[in-house]
Amino acid sequence: MLSRRQIPFFNYRALFESQEHEIMGVLRDVLSRGAYILQQDLRDFEAGLARYLGVKHAFGVADGTNSIVLALRAAGVGPGHEVIVPAHTFIASVYPIKAVGATPVLVECADDHLLDPSAVEAALTPRTKAILPVHLNGRTCDMASLGRIAARRGLTIVEDAAQALGSKFQGKFAGTFGLAGTFSFYPAKSLGCFGDGGALVTNDDRVAERVELWRDHGRNKDGVVVDWGTNCRLDNVQAAVLSLKLRGFDAAIARRREIAGLYDRRLRQIVALSLPPAPDAHPDHFDTYQNYELQAQRRDELRAHLEQNGVRTLLQWGGRAVHQFEALGFNVSLPKTELMTSRFIMLPMNTSLADDDINYICDLIEQFYSRA
Ligand SMILES: *Cc1c(COP(=O)(O)O)cnc(C)c1O
Repeated sequence: MLSRRQIPFFNYRALFESQEHEIMGVLRDVLSRGAYILQQDLRDFEAGLARYLGVKHAFGVADGTNSIVLALRAAGVGPGHEVIVPAHTFIASVYPIKAVGATPVLVECADDHLLDPSAVEAALTPRTKAILPVHLNGRTCDMASLGRIAARRGLTIVEDAAQALGSKFQGKFAGTFGLAGTFSFYPAKSLGCFGDGGALVTNDDRVAERVELWRDHGRNKDGVVVDWGTNCRLDNVQAAVLSLKLRGFDAAIARRREIAGLYDRRLRQIVALSLPPAPDAHPDHFDTYQNYELQAQRRDELRAHLEQNGVRTLLQWGGRAVHQFEALGFNVSLPKTELMTSRFIMLPMNTSLADDDINYICDLIEQFYSRA
């Protein structure tokens, strides 16, 4: 008999308490200066993020979703264009394509749950304007293959790296391959703030110039409106918190990779499971494990067993791929994604977990499949 534990999927309170003193210091400092919108703390965070990723420009924006809208607009994507995007993603990867007036073309994911380059190839038409790879679960897509397709067809790449800050492919950071890369600092993201937040990064000066205007009502440095823009700013307070968290980010990623290694060692023998690649499985990939998403046979029964024993799991996107939301009117069939979606489950993966928590979860999973 295992002694029972309660393991939430994500523990916001524990995360706060682990850094309470420093966080309160940052808040007191910013609030006492009355520095809220487009202040020095935002510029500092942007500089820190650009340095971390080795990119020329980084802009704090309101959230990950609107960051993709700005990126597509800057890429000149609009009516008459098609944008290829995986169906196994958050609706927030796809809405921005509609928002700029283009058509999302949903395609299959590969065995690693990420956009399949051969599916992209098969979906190309004369109207294809851009590819929107989503670096899901903290793993960077095969950007070599996607880059070749884009170069051959003259397509733009805009990367949804909302789940992949710090993740790399062939030594290069997610979000730095395409014309622009976008990030989310939603509280449960690996770099999370205390509300909504996002960033857009680019090496392209023209994109940078436009995004900087557009996120602040189209105003230039003198406050003159020089283009149509919107309000899409990252709050200065959130930026200050993010700078603090960015300093501890590499350690947080190291811990996530350690937990992934623990799961992998304990679970890889179970034939009913198909695990994500282990941390050192492939020299091309440096994964940051935003999520630990695997495929499980008898998934719903396994979930119930874990739940009964105090372990909360999650189905990404509520257990549906984008085309499975009927209200959106997609009329496509993606059998591989649909089958995988019926097996996907995410185990707890965050820096508040102790090794004993992981062992408890793995004991329960072993117990579930051994009694069959
Ligand atoms: C979180 C997320 C987003 C959107 O981020 P928000 O900051 O919540 O708008 C976009 N794409 C993916 C894959 C995400 O996980």
